[in-house]
Amino acid sequence: MAKIKMTTPLVEMDGDEMTRILWKWIKDILIEPYVELNTEYYDLGLENREKTKDQVTFDSAEATKKYGVAVKCATITPNAARMPEYNLTQMWKSPNGTIRSILDGTVFRTPILVKGIEPYIPTWTKPITIARHAYGDVYKNTETTVKQGSKAELVVTDKDGNETRELIHEFTNSDGVLQGLHNLDNSISGFARACLNYGLDLKQDVWFATKDTISKKYDHRFKDIFQEIYDNEYKEKYEALGIEYFYTLIDDAVARVIRSNGGYIWACKNYDGDVMSDMVSTAYGSLAMMTSVLVSPDGIYEYEAAHGTVQRHYYKYLKGEETSTNSVATIFAWSGALRKRGELDNISELCDFADKLEKATVQTIEEGIMTGDLYLLSKLENKKKVDSKTFLEEINNRLSALV
Ligand code: NAP
Ligand code: MG
Repeated sequence: MAKIKMTTPLVEMDGDEMTRILWKWIKDILIEPYVELNTEYYDLGLENREKTKDQVTFDSAEATKKYGVAVKCATITPNAARMPEYNLTQMWKSPNGTIRSILDGTVFRTPILVKGIEPYIPTWTKPITIARHAYGDVYKNTETTVKQGSKAELVVTDKDGNETRELIHEFTNSDGVLQGLHNLDNSISGFARACLNYGLDLKQDVWFATKDTISKKYDHRFKDIFQEIYDNEYKEKYEALGIEYFYTLIDDAVARVIRSNGGYIWACKNYDGDVMSDMVSTAYGSLAMMTSVLVSPDGIYEYEAAHGTVQRHYYKYLKGEETSTNSVATIFAWSGALRKRGELDNISELCDFADKLEKATVQTIEEGIMTGDLYLLSKLENKKKVDSKTFLEEINNRLSALV
């Protein structure tokens, strides 16, 4: 069989530890036998980030801007313990943070559902995708403690030097605490467009919620910007697809999410997204079954797994011990990126291949062959735990029958 050809290169960002091992195996066993891979390769492994003084991370983000689609392996974000381990001259910043700020993107996380691993909420039969606004609010706050007898005011000085003041509180009877938050119309608009674009991509409803009844200017601004952008730029396209943009209060949203069947995108303010994405991913079962895609407002996509480099398994691997690391989220990062490349370049064979790769992966688990993490969760009776590489070979046995 002739391999599928690609036209535009896919930006490939290699990474660290166990996921770097899986990365190579996924390519060798599941992709290269079928696709004549055309990637522009960037080694974001920590050694090469050190060697290039992190330039490689910036270059890979620029390449993603140029070509439009990237697939990324999990990478180490260095902490104190990594400094001697990798002989680092600097505690290099999180590559994900660097890439996100260059692409100005929003991260969408979606669980992969398989039979036998039931969500804690039994009605969630379809995935809920969470989009977290990644700028501002409490994550860029200024805060202080306040002594009794102090008066706190909100002071804004405009560009001509005029001040407006508003009383926050007179701390007459007690010491207290104080916090200043901000956000930017630009950033909120970018977030709204990324979410509404992703809704069109997935042909799913987009939900958004804030506490605008209480926060009549701050949260209300978020609500208004979303509504304005939806009405002016997306309403017709949404109506044509039969999907909707739905706004409600955050507490109402939480109640509706629990009662829902899933199958929509939930756009969250920064803090809501931080908290709710942990709740939603845990409720679906496993972080190792969670994909993640960074989407920029101008339609650039970077696919990855939501989990890290699985360090503990890597150390076992280095000692020659058997590992049973789940590669599903990384496989879906590849399938997501190849499908998007296929869509943009009109290569339907590439999109079909991505569908089949996902199908074979899900089928393998549903037929009872899985890695240790899923083995603990699966309710299947005939389940069998296999090692990291055997799992990929089992997927390929099914994939080769599909293509
Ligand atoms: P982690 O790599 O996600 O792993 C934490 C634990 O979760 C593992 O020890 C393992 O549990 C389980 N796990 C995660 N993914 C798994 C998989 N695919 N298959 C089976 N089990 C899996 O998080 P971490 O240990 O906190 O972080 C390790 C490194 O990853 C850090 O250097 C961190 O900076 C980096 N990181 C990178 C990204 C990214 O690039 N997107 C994200 C998060 C963390 P058991 O040990 O119990 O089997
Ligand atoms: Mg969190």
